[in-house]
Amino acid sequence: RRVEGSPAARALQRDSLRDLAGILEARGSRLVIRHGPAERELVDLVREVGADGVFSHTDHEPAARQQLSRVKEALGRLGVSLHLSGDLLLVPTTALRTLSGKPFTVFTPFSRRWLEADKPAPIPEPSEIPTPEAIRSSAFPSESPDAQAEDASALPPSLPRGGLRAALERWKRFRDEELEQYAEGRDRPDRDGTSRLSLDLRPGTLGIRRLYAELRTLQRNSAPHARAAIETFIKELAWREFFAGILDAFPSVATASFRPEFDQFSWVTGEEQTLRFTAWAEGRTGYPIVDAGMRQLAKEGWMHNRVRMIVASFLTKDLLVHWRFGEAFFRSLLGDGDLASNNGGWQWAAGSGCDAQPFFRIFNPVRQGERFDPEGIYVRRYVGELASLSGVGSAIHAPWLLPNPPALYPGPVVDHARARARALAAFALLRH
Ligand code: FAD
Repeated sequence: RRVEGSPAARALQRDSLRDLAGILEARGSRLVIRHGPAERELVDLVREVGADGVFSHTDHEPAARQQLSRVKEALGRLGVSLHLSGDLLLVPTTALRTLSGKPFTVFTPFSRRWLEADKPAPIPEPSEIPTPEAIRSSAFPSESPDAQAEDASALPPSLPRGGLRAALERWKRFRDEELEQYAEGRDRPDRDGTSRLSLDLRPGTLGIRRLYAELRTLQRNSAPHARAAIETFIKELAWREFFAGILDAFPSVATASFRPEFDQFSWVTGEEQTLRFTAWAEGRTGYPIVDAGMRQLAKEGWMHNRVRMIVASFLTKDLLVHWRFGEAFFRSLLGDGDLASNNGGWQWAAGSGCDAQPFFRIFNPVRQGERFDPEGIYVRRYVGELASLSGVGSAIHAPWLLPNPPALYPGPVVDHARARARALAAFALLRH
């Protein structure tokens, strides 16, 4: 299945396919790649190999669901069945319901039930995969994973590698160096205390069942502090499944606010919107933590969660740009871009989502920087104009206050206190 979304996400998928080809070959099989509409290519393939069944996984994204139903119909016409298993998530989106039988729209009760729910064990990998000789022959048509690769210049210059090997390396680094301090480290972009496994969970390169099973085994053998940190990490995985459930139950959130009144909000429009959005997207707002985040995204195709929250709050509340623009921009660059989590994260930050951060809670980008990047390590890593600036606290997070502000770094695009007041006034109008 072709990955929708950014060039970065497609590059990660190509890495995964290359790894998978090697894994299948080592087990006596072969990866066959075809490009084109799934319903056409699969029908051709089924005819060519005489298959009597096709196996795939369920998906909660509206476009993927439509694709699966087209595939099912096309295969049905050949008398071939499509077998679906739910292995993108630990708990199927429709399994958990409130007492009144409705989908959960509040995270805490959802996560309680999700933690208690049965989770499937990983299925052991087969050591051999019996495959007809004809398919293993190089004469059997298959395209290269790179057949439709975009130009490297379209990719973030420091995009991490994808594929199973890279995923396992990320997991091992995190498990051995960060997991035990995750509860404190996860909010610190300067420490890189998170797993970066979103890059692998999104395409399914690292199976969620395998990750979960390893976490529970580790947890059983850990000291109390580490046990609690692992529990915190597992709860973060529940957010991913919460937002998948929201998208599944309310597919309209893909284009509209979960709270419809937010689509009537007085978002900025026209030339002013273009100016503000461009400063934000290019990492030139003059707020170092915001700009560092946007530059990390451009450079690596990934951004730390705390900073995603800060930049999303800044765009929607300080700059009053509709969340939809930020959401689409993220998806065009993120290697881990995921419709459900990205939409959920944006609507959470904008206040328009279910169980969202209330609109009146507006992050102060200077305070956020001082709190979560106290020595300015993260800012200096990504904002070259501030790299040689000495000092901590507001010296690095509010450089316009310095007697000699760095000449090449822009001044603040808005005054946060005034922008906050403007946002609250617009919100008061909406409530009335
Ligand atoms: P870790 O802290 O190591 O967490 C482990 C895993 O838990 C993550 O890989 C992810 O699968 C899951 N997770 C953690 N926090 C969240 C969360 N808040 N929502 C959903 N899942 C979570 N995540 C994506 O996978 N794709 C996106 O497109 C995406 N867009 C976002 C946009 C905004 C505005 C916000 C605020 C959040 C977004 N997130 C998205 C959620 C979160 O930021 C990333 O999952 C996280 O930063 C990935 O880094 P990590 O793997 O190191 O996280």
